[in-house]
Amino acid sequence: MALPLYGHVTALALDPIEKKPLYHFRPGSQILSAGFAGCNLRCPFCQNWHISQKTDGPWRNISPKELIAAAESSGGQIAYTYSEPLVHFEYLLETMALARRAGVANVLVSNGCINAEPAAEIIPLLDAANIDLKCFSGETYGKVLGGSLEAVKHFIASAYGAGVHLEVTTLIVPGVSDNCAEFDAASEFLASLASPSSPEGGRRACTPAALREIPWHLSAYHPDYRWDAPPTDLSVLAGFARRARQKMPYVYTGNIPGGSSDTPCPLCGKTLVSRRGCHVDASGLAPGREGRCCCAYCGETAPFVPV
Ligand SMILES: [Zn+2]
Repeated sequence: MALPLYGHVTALALDPIEKKPLYHFRPGSQILSAGFAGCNLRCPFCQNWHISQKTDGPWRNISPKELIAAAESSGGQIAYTYSEPLVHFEYLLETMALARRAGVANVLVSNGCINAEPAAEIIPLLDAANIDLKCFSGETYGKVLGGSLEAVKHFIASAYGAGVHLEVTTLIVPGVSDNCAEFDAASEFLASLASPSSPEGGRRACTPAALREIPWHLSAYHPDYRWDAPPTDLSVLAGFARRARQKMPYVYTGNIPGGSSDTPCPLCGKTLVSRRGCHVDASGLAPGREGRCCCAYCGETAPFVPV
């Protein structure tokens, strides 16, 4: 039986990679971004519900081959993004395998709600991923979002352990993900992955420590879909970022109009990458050892994947 919606691409655009958001993977580059219809979650606060909760919007049919040809001619990387790409698992597997053969980098932007078996099929094809960790309550995931916290944790740990460049996004939604105890547990979980002593840390133990950090994006919510709580208070967002930085070295706040965020060198304090809206200046990074980056001023290794 033919798969419904196979190859139905609802959006195709060239975006700054920082918009995914990925801040430590090829900073300042552009990435061809493909979106599809539908989602396996039902988050009542969905910020993208016009495409995630509907499957009858406009689309055009693009084959895996055509999509990868477009990615090859527009910078050599492709993001599967906008709504939930994993719903289109078969199309993704086919397209990602073609990308691998063509030397095109695969970037997945996803809620990570996928069973262990298909996760194990797709993770080896990924170069980078940004995974949502929407909250840290199994009950909220199950009852409010229609998903599974354990599945998301497993996907995050597995992708990290397999050496995929991983960044995580948490939307701070009043009444859903602004519980301090749960937030601290999420910080602890992410920090434990990056700890060499952690059994979940996978390859971390044999990788230079500074190169395997997990940047964490805390995003401001605005009322949308079925959630009318007021927008995330920016001082509350900043407070959560301070909490997170007690355990995680690279925490960024996002979804703020006119917002900016810089990454300073952990050793000399000079700016490695500055981000001002759409403008990204990565001139503080220089080529480092083993295909990685270092600080252009003091030579300290920097956890960035170069362009
Ligand atoms: Zn430095």
